[in-house]
Amino acid sequence: MSMVKCIGILTSGGDAPGMNAAIRAVTRAAIHNGMSVKGIYRGYKGLITNEIKEFKTQDVSNIIPRGGTILKTARCEEFRTVEGRQLAYERLVEHNIDALVAIGGDGTLTGARIFAQEFNYPVVGLPGTIDNDLFGTDVTIGYDTALNTIMECVDKIRDTATSHERLFFIEVMGREAGFLALNGAIASGSEAAIIPEIYLERDQLAEMIETGFRKSKSSSIVLVAESEVTGGAIGVAARVKKEYPQFDVRVSILGHLQRGGSPTARDRILATRMGVAAIDALLDDQRNVMIGIQNDAIVYVPFSKAIKNLKPINPDIMKTLEIVSI
Ligand code: ATP
Repeated sequence: MSMVKCIGILTSGGDAPGMNAAIRAVTRAAIHNGMSVKGIYRGYKGLITNEIKEFKTQDVSNIIPRGGTILKTARCEEFRTVEGRQLAYERLVEHNIDALVAIGGDGTLTGARIFAQEFNYPVVGLPGTIDNDLFGTDVTIGYDTALNTIMECVDKIRDTATSHERLFFIEVMGREAGFLALNGAIASGSEAAIIPEIYLERDQLAEMIETGFRKSKSSSIVLVAESEVTGGAIGVAARVKKEYPQFDVRVSILGHLQRGGSPTARDRILATRMGVAAIDALLDDQRNVMIGIQNDAIVYVPFSKAIKNLKPINPDIMKTLEIVSI
């Protein structure tokens, strides 16, 4: 039987649509199981500065359709130091919080892992990032919404692109991961996706240009993953201007609009299932795991695996894009 009577919940790092659905589910599942819940504002920062408030069922009413996170988020340099983490630990003890649910990306879970080990403290993580770059889960909370936003934006850009016969490079987010670019390209009918995972192995730009864009096409749209490897859309466009000056090139960077908006049904359901699973995990005496989803089943992924391993791109999906974009 688990000894957890009170849990703390926080969101940290970049916000992602669906985080609110996760906060709601964690809160309600905890209350359902007789636990009390404390909302910690501004991630690890608010934990250190004591921005903590008791959450009841009604505190999470009507938040499921909202993007962003009602708990706010922040980056916190102090939590990277032992002293900062010590302060955070003292706060948890003061508030009688027995376990922590942390929602965020790679950095958030890295911090969670270090903290959990240092203080032998139970932490469960939820993968909240539009980038989908956490290993051990098929998808992360926010990814589907961002993908849909990208698709809608690219549809709009295509309308203007076809009127002018241009080569458009559209930069999408993803940190160093190409999931948004690759699947965004398929969903929007783009001609290609330039992603760091492949750009490292093959010169995707040269291949694209040399195999030739179909002459009958009035415009070409290429999604470029933001990345130091690809140089992003600006880097790729600069190469084209220099090496292939015959093209009329345009660049569009979608930027932060990709993080916003009401979450899709898929993200709301994923976040809700994962939120409930976080409480199940604590009841099960699981600690220092990230909740993941694999083939539609909830799984527990040790932090060490979720963070350390690079999540691979499925080469079949890249092949699919190549087949349909001729
Ligand atoms: P996203 O993927 O959306 O950017 P993230 O969770 O990866 O989200 P980061 O800014 O990398 O965002 O990390 C969030 C916070 O986690 C940091 O501000 C810091 O407080 C904490 N954190 C990150 N890395 C570490 C670390 N090595 N040690 C301790 N804390 C860390």
